[in-house]
Amino acid sequence: MSDPLAYAIDLHTHSLRSDGALSPVELVRRAAGRGVLIQALSDHDTLAGVAEAIAEGERLGVRVIPATELNTESEWGDVHILGYFLDPADQALEERLRWLRENRGRRIELMVERLATLGFPVTLERVHAIAQGGALGRPHLAQALLEAGYVPSYDEAFRTLISKESPAYVARVGLTPHEAVRLVRDHGGVPALAHPFTADRLEIVLPQLVDAGLAGIECYYGSHGVADTVRYLALAARYDLVPTGGSDFHGRGEHGAPLGGLWMPPATVDALGSRRRSAHALEASPYHDLPVERPN
Ligand SMILES: [Zn+2]
Ligand SMILES: [Zn+2]
Repeated sequence: MSDPLAYAIDLHTHSLRSDGALSPVELVRRAAGRGVLIQALSDHDTLAGVAEAIAEGERLGVRVIPATELNTESEWGDVHILGYFLDPADQALEERLRWLRENRGRRIELMVERLATLGFPVTLERVHAIAQGGALGRPHLAQALLEAGYVPSYDEAFRTLISKESPAYVARVGLTPHEAVRLVRDHGGVPALAHPFTADRLEIVLPQLVDAGLAGIECYYGSHGVADTVRYLALAARYDLVPTGGSDFHGRGEHGAPLGGLWMPPATVDALGSRRRSAHALEASPYHDLPVERPN
């Protein structure tokens, strides 16, 4: 079996602690086997997998950076904020993350009820079993729908039943993008915007997030073409953001890049680390009034 070597850094990966398919230990082993040297474990709304990932990383020579990914609710589309260098032992942070996970769970419960009334019954127990104790998400629901034979594929479950414009969709209750950035900053972490193409009207939302303390933007991403990467690198330069990148690996092949499959400059991690500060000072931002060109 050929398993092509990966690049050295991957700053966006998911394990079973949220909606990934591999345990944190398996994920780090897979990364190490591919030649990854620095990996952020960025499960949704939790740092629960970080300790075991770090321990396995120490054994195998992979530096594991604690991280989380926060989905947000707003008029700006899918704005996901990655928070790097957070402390898994921070109890106040864990309280907030638990609140987000509970909201996630309630939302999935509502979607299960809606699916039943639409004629696609799956049990909440089965969805929990698929999640194996991780933070519940729509991927688990898609898996349950696939298993029950209602759809021919995982992607089809999303497309026809549980994506945003689909009949069983229920919106989440959660943080706004601004609150997500502040949450990361307030707990000593470094916030970065994930897969910026999923945000609507980036030219408006990005300066606001920079004002709130955003420090990075994911320029290197599996589904980006060269023109996308160039565009986001230009935004990074304009707003003094660290260009980050990652595979967004979940282990089911549903996202663009294999583990460690994105190149980014070797200095990325140090640059991101240099943006840590204990409390983000609310200085006046010079970026309020700058227009942003949109090439398309
Ligand atoms: Zn995301
Ligand atoms: Zn992700």
